[in-house]
Parts: sequence; structure tokens; C-alpha cells
Amino acid sequence: MGSVIRPVCKCNSNFSSLYAGCGFSDWDEVCNVPTPCFHCQTIFTRNLYNKVLKCPKCRRVVHPYGEVVDFNNDMEEVFSWSFQFNKKYQLLRKKFTCPVCKEEKLSFIKEAMWD
Ligand SMILES: [Zn+2]
Ligand SMILES: [Zn+2]
Repeated sequence: MGSVIRPVCKCNSNFSSLYAGCGFSDWDEVCNVPTPCFHCQTIFTRNLYNKVLKCPKCRRVVHPYGEVVDFNNDMEEVFSWSFQFNKKYQLLRKKFTCPVCKEEKLSFIKEAMWD
């Protein structure tokens, strides 16, 4: 029960599709969200339930895109995920900073649902 989302940026960097969300069996332990590493210039997913998120390549501490907000927030989103009581993780339909060109030109498109 998640989504396949793909980062796209004006600079035409070739980002791969990401599996965001989690499987049915581990929904309260795993919530994979898109996370950039500005050092490696790449985007991957990390588990939001981990206290400290690190890049799988360079092991630097990284911060995910999106945020945890109140559940009844109804701004336009690409992807959201219930996260603890009354909260959800939300990836808004807006521009984010690209790890390659460092400009606020990166957005996410939804490619598919999966479970
Ligand atoms: Zn890295
Ligand atoms: Zn870019």
C-alpha cells in the first residue's frame, strides 16, 4: 500500500523511481519517504521511523523531503501516509530543492500504486 513516485527536475537529472510508503505487514514500523543526499547528488528512500536517517552511500545524515503534519490538513499532495495518531507524512505538490542543480525546481510525479 504505497506509491511509486519519481522525482523530476528542470535540470533533467536522471532520478530513478522510488517506492514510497510501506507494505501491509510492516505499516507501523516502516514508512519509506523520498530523501535527498546533496553530497552524492541522488535521491533514495529512507524509513521515517528511524531516529537518524543516513545516506546509504556516504553515511552522512540526511533529511527527507516532505513533512509530518496534522491528519486533516488538505493541501494538494502527491503522496501521504498516516503516521502515528492524528498525523500524516505529506509530500506536497510543490517544488523542492534538487540535490543535483541545488535549485528549487524538483517536483514529484506519481507513477503507480502498489501493495
Ligand atoms: Zn550520500
Ligand atoms: Zn535539478
